[in-house]
Formats: sequence, structure tokens, C-alpha cells
Amino acid sequence: MRRTLALASSATLLAAGAAAVPSLASAEPAHQPGGPCLQDNQKVSLASVAGYDDVVRELDRIERTSQGLVDVASTGTSGEGRELFYATVGDGPETFWLQARIHGNELHSTEAVLQVLDQLASAAPWAADVRENLTVVVLPMYNPDGAEANIRQSTTPTRTDLNRDWENFAQPESVAFWELWRDVAPTYALDLHHMSEAPVVEGTDDLNQFQIGGRSIDPSRMTAEQWLTNRAMAMVSVDALSSYGPVNVAKYPDIDITNAVLSRMLMGGTAPAGEQPVADTPTEGAIFYEVRSVGQKSNGQLENLFRIPTKAVLTAAASGDLTSYDVSGYEAIPYAERGQCGAF
Ligand SMILES: [Zn+2]
Repeated sequence: MRRTLALASSATLLAAGAAAVPSLASAEPAHQPGGPCLQDNQKVSLASVAGYDDVVRELDRIERTSQGLVDVASTGTSGEGRELFYATVGDGPETFWLQARIHGNELHSTEAVLQVLDQLASAAPWAADVRENLTVVVLPMYNPDGAEANIRQSTTPTRTDLNRDWENFAQPESVAFWELWRDVAPTYALDLHHMSEAPVVEGTDDLNQFQIGGRSIDPSRMTAEQWLTNRAMAMVSVDALSSYGPVNVAKYPDIDITNAVLSRMLMGGTAPAGEQPVADTPTEGAIFYEVRSVGQKSNGQLENLFRIPTKAVLTAAASGDLTSYDVSGYEAIPYAERGQCGAF
């Protein structure tokens, strides 16, 4: 399933991008970097960046070799007609929604969740615990059209940001995944992103590798339980990374984006045309990660930055530890500065 593109420099990469490789630099406007961004003489390796066909093949392989533990299905089709695949593993009473690549040019979240899915189908004790206590719904590529074009948004003329479309539901991806959300009624949701820029932790020169997105809306718009659950999910994630090298965790900037997927999962109140809003949202916690981007770390490191905290949150949700997790450290997590921090 690998598309191996070991390249000597980003100059080579960008030159190749015009032909075979999607351009990594053209999707976002130029901006002033805070930390190191892609440099001309920087070694860049794009090994194991999963494209849509890779996702299809890998989901099929995992399902076939899972001895019935993993079920793969489609919830609809994208604007260009690609099947919107998701996998289900486990049969526990609470459902966990694990979403990747709603922004098509944020590359490594797809590979990371496929790795997590593969491990969830394994004989490892932690995976068995998760399967017994959770039903995990994995969306490796929410935006396959954008992924194939290597752009953030949809490929329709409106270039819709799919993470701003759970009010208008202009895109078929939004309708299909909203219906899946309604049907599987997840208690927890985790959404994986990459930063577009390389900031530092505020007040330091420490390169920020990981930002925790504990809130996509103001906490005043959540229930007290939701805000507590979000912070617990955030702290489990941050604590899991504390033993993984110099990650230099920061908090994502405080935002209040009501038409984002996670926001509407928490607030409810909207539905696609012809559908009824869900009366009481099932979702008690919904957070996101922002990881450094391609060329700033090795692929394996980038995938670890997604995979390590994701597995920790799954484990904590399965064990019940989330409900009593110590969130007192949340407020003290620093923000980042210098460099635009992607756009969740
Ligand atoms: Zn994003």
C-alpha cells in the first residue's frame, strides 16, 4: 500500500509535484514562518503517504485478515463519486469516532489511523480491552477528493472546507458523514489535523510539534460534562506524549467555530435537508490534534505523534479512566506563537 517517494530535497519534491506528486506548497497562501518550514536543502521523505487507492486496499486487507473483527462499509460517495469508506471494530457499548484527513492536504493522519485500526484488530491486550468496551468507527479519509488533489477543501467549484460545512451541508461528504454520526451515535470523537506552519511554544524557542485542540467552540456552548470530558481527553493525550521525546506540546488557539464537525457533534441543532436534527446529542467529548507537517519531522515521527495519544485516549475511554482523569493541568498548557498554526 506504500507510495514511496524518497526525495533528496524539497526542491526536488516541488519540481516533481508538478508532474506525479501532489504539490505540497501551493495549497496555502505564503506566510511568515515562525519555526523552520520546508527548506530548499531539507531532506524530505514522503514514504507511506496514503492515497485513496491505498486506503481502499489497506482497509480491504485489514478486514480480510481480521477474522471478523473489522467491518468496512461506505456511507456514501464524495463529490467526485469516490466511496466514503469507514471501518468498525469492537462491539462495546460506547462508540468512539476516529476521523482523519478532512483536510485533504494534511497527509499523515490517514496512515496513522490505518495503523491504529490494524492494531485494534490484533491480539494485543489493550486492543482486546478497547474492542470489548468500545465500538470504534474509523474514518481514514473524510475528504478523498481533496486528498487526491492535495488541497484542503473539496474539489467542487465552491472549494468548500468540509470542516465548515455542518450547517449548510453543501457537500455530499458532509451529508453522508452526518448521517453516519447520527446512526452510530458516538460518545467520543477525535479529529486529526496537521499544522500548516511551524510555531514555537510561547515564550520559548522550543519547536512546537503537537497542539492539543480541546475546544472547537467556547466552553460556554458545551455542557459542563462535555467540557470536562474534552479536557480529560486532552490531558490523556498530552500525558501520553510526555515520554515521547521533545514534543513541546502547546494548546491550539481558542476558537469558536460553530459549523465545524466536532462543534456540531457537541451542540447538535443542525441537519442536512430532509433530515431532523438529533434531539439530544450523544457526543460527550470531541477534540482534535494538530501535528507538525510533512518535511518538518520524519514520517514515522509524525505518525507517532498521532498514534501515541490516539491509542491512549482509546485506552482511557475503554477503561473508564476518562471519567475521573485529572484535568487540573489543562489551563497551564502554554499556547504556541510565531507561525500560523494551521486551521483546524
Ligand atoms: Zn486541518
